[in-house]
Amino acid sequence: MKVPILLPNIFNHPFTYESDINLKVGDYVVVPFGKSKITGVVWDEFEKKDKKKFKIKTVLKKLNVSPLKKTTIKFLNWFAEYNIIPKGMALKLVLLSSNAIEKLQKDAYKIFDSSTKTNLMELSEEQKKSLIKMNISNEKFRVHVLQGTTGSGKTMVYFSALNNIINKGLQGLILLPEIGLTSQFEKKFKEFFGFMPAVWHSGISKKNKEVIWSGITSGKIRVVIGARSSLFLPFRKLGLIIVDEEHDQSYKQDEGVTYNARDMAISRASFENIPINLITAVPSIETFENIKKGKYSVSRLEQRYQNASLPNYEIINLKDTKLEKQSWLSKKIIEKVNFHLEKNDQVLFFLNRRGFSPHVICNKCFNSYSCPNCSINLVYHKNKDNLLCHYCGFKSSLKRNCIKDGDCEIIFSGPGVERISEEVKKKFPSKKIEIFSSDTMNKKDSSTKLEKIINNEIQILVGTQLISKGFHFPNLNCIVVVDIDLSSQGHDLRGAEKNLQLYHQLSGRAGRTGKPATVYFQTYKSNTKMISDLTNSNPDIFLDRELDIRKKNNLPPFQRFISLILTGDNEEKLGKEAYKFKIFIENKLSGKILGPVSAPIFKLKKKYRIRLLIRGAKTLKLQNSLAQAIPNYKFQPGIKLSVDVDPINFN
Ligand SMILES: [Zn+2]
Ligand SMILES: [Zn+2]
Repeated sequence: MKVPILLPNIFNHPFTYESDINLKVGDYVVVPFGKSKITGVVWDEFEKKDKKKFKIKTVLKKLNVSPLKKTTIKFLNWFAEYNIIPKGMALKLVLLSSNAIEKLQKDAYKIFDSSTKTNLMELSEEQKKSLIKMNISNEKFRVHVLQGTTGSGKTMVYFSALNNIINKGLQGLILLPEIGLTSQFEKKFKEFFGFMPAVWHSGISKKNKEVIWSGITSGKIRVVIGARSSLFLPFRKLGLIIVDEEHDQSYKQDEGVTYNARDMAISRASFENIPINLITAVPSIETFENIKKGKYSVSRLEQRYQNASLPNYEIINLKDTKLEKQSWLSKKIIEKVNFHLEKNDQVLFFLNRRGFSPHVICNKCFNSYSCPNCSINLVYHKNKDNLLCHYCGFKSSLKRNCIKDGDCEIIFSGPGVERISEEVKKKFPSKKIEIFSSDTMNKKDSSTKLEKIINNEIQILVGTQLISKGFHFPNLNCIVVVDIDLSSQGHDLRGAEKNLQLYHQLSGRAGRTGKPATVYFQTYKSNTKMISDLTNSNPDIFLDRELDIRKKNNLPPFQRFISLILTGDNEEKLGKEAYKFKIFIENKLSGKILGPVSAPIFKLKKKYRIRLLIRGAKTLKLQNSLAQAIPNYKFQPGIKLSVDVDPINFN
């Protein structure tokens, strides 16, 4: 018999093979390809176009793996089409390092087996009502949104919903932003369900991945909690998907194969015809629109744990006070913080900037220290005593010779968390202070640090946005936003939405155990409406207005954006090529093409970058015509095109 086999490589079509073995759609096989052997899957359709005649080769063997479900194959076909990537690359996301794992010994999955009894927690009235709403029409595809204030116990509600599903013998998937995959979360899971979930992210060992992959295909593993890549696991009988923190922008993979894991999770649920629950405190603008249109059902949790109220907000206008030189904390804020410290409150100074200073210049030659590979300033990290590029990882020492004479005379312009931490140390010398950023919270000792913070052994934190991500610090009752003006700058159409999410998540860290809490904002602006909008306890007002703006300006979610980035070594050649390419695709698409313009980060990792933005109706036609046009254009050597459907970052 002849069979179509899709291989995990850059081809967008299956290859035709001959087989002596009886094969069905979804079977995993090993086939010869070129000079090597490769694992593939029997696909649901032969290649449509008959190109050159190859000699048809024979399937070598069928692997002892439960077949990939037809519904999953249909999802992968659609996934490839939607994101404009080859089908083979979509299959690669399913296979494990381009391989399938044959059935393992039964006891390989022992640790994921239920042994202890489940410990169902008593839900509050509000939680119970939410759960009932969530469980409506649970047998087929539907999207439900659980919108709950930070600290209102959303996890317990969706754990209970998941429990129903696994009691029916089905599997469940909980997607979390990578940073949410902490041991704290696993512990919570174990306590509730009485067994360990399979945890899936880029950092787990190969051996572990093999066990989990195999346990999922055979149905031995019931629940996976994972980062975005877990969405492509070949579940045998998936019954429910949960996307926690659905608004989190890190669900967007924007390097390599680009996709939005939240949106793709919804599609997968639709192809598998199973329910999906989106969990959030403040929905993303897309989700908010779908709630308004009635496409998604919604339930709300408004009470916080122990009836804690949301923090108060106070604006401190820096226009009225004079800051000392090289200082970023006003007298007034120091007084406020002292007041909190006396009450044994934990305090957080928030500034979304890693390192010591984001901009270093020489006072003699006025040269600024920028990255030789990227058009970006180098950030000075005092702890490591070097200058660092946050985009390509370039490192250099501070020492540099001045064009004028001798060494440069260095000026640090502006603060990062390290610099604020120095100022805080001076102002509060007796307190224990810790920096909370991706530089200091590396995996190894982060759990001991977290423990110390939770036990109030650390009185003052200085943190970047990392701290806004779902951590529970019981004593944190005072947050100081060092400079809110910094986050209102930017060129990003999602800037307002990003800020709304950030400050809601951030203030959600405070006052979690019922004590009164306050968030202070330092600003130079006299118009503080932006701050009061961001902090309104009803985010729907803000989202409604944002949706209006998007509609008026034909922006997503009302139109589709597809971003095209051309990169190359030669600035001039690249510019010309971008114009030529635009003219080439222009009459082949139903959308409007904006640009070409230099990308905001014009040079990145030694490559110049030019951007085109396609805007069009939200149908697959836009992707299809683009996918058809691109292969017919021959780019000049050294120029590369990358395509990003529904872009989130506009760097
Ligand atoms: Zn760089
Ligand atoms: Zn100099």
